[in-house]
Amino acid sequence: MITHRNTQQRRAILDYLRNTVSHPRAEDIYVSLKSNFPSLSFGTVYRNLRILSEIGEIQELRYGNSASRFDGNTTNHPHFTCELCGSVFDVEEEFIKLDKVIFSGVKNFVIKSYRLELFGSCLHCKNSHS
Ligand code: ZN
Ligand code: MN
Repeated sequence: MITHRNTQQRRAILDYLRNTVSHPRAEDIYVSLKSNFPSLSFGTVYRNLRILSEIGEIQELRYGNSASRFDGNTTNHPHFTCELCGSVFDVEEEFIKLDKVIFSGVKNFVIKSYRLELFGSCLHCKNSHS
């Protein structure tokens, strides 16, 4: 049953994701919104994230066994993950020179999508570890 409160909470989650570039985890979103929505539960955040990504309002970035990150930008764009602090950043596509990605040589798989994910250390971590 969709109640007014559910709608409000879903809207808040969507707005939060559209206004951040931090690619938060479900847990981060829950912690950030809890003060404005005292009745909010982690389960509700999680369920709404599922729904919002199913209807294409947000995108879920899955990282195997690590917690998914969520992005209010639903276009397919490259990300950089810092392996030291876990931050996930957008990378501007124009700074990456790749030849056209062509899948025609790939057999035995039905490709629905692809992602470009870069890994390493962010400048902040690089400077504090060297
Ligand atoms: Zn870092
Ligand atoms: Mn992004």
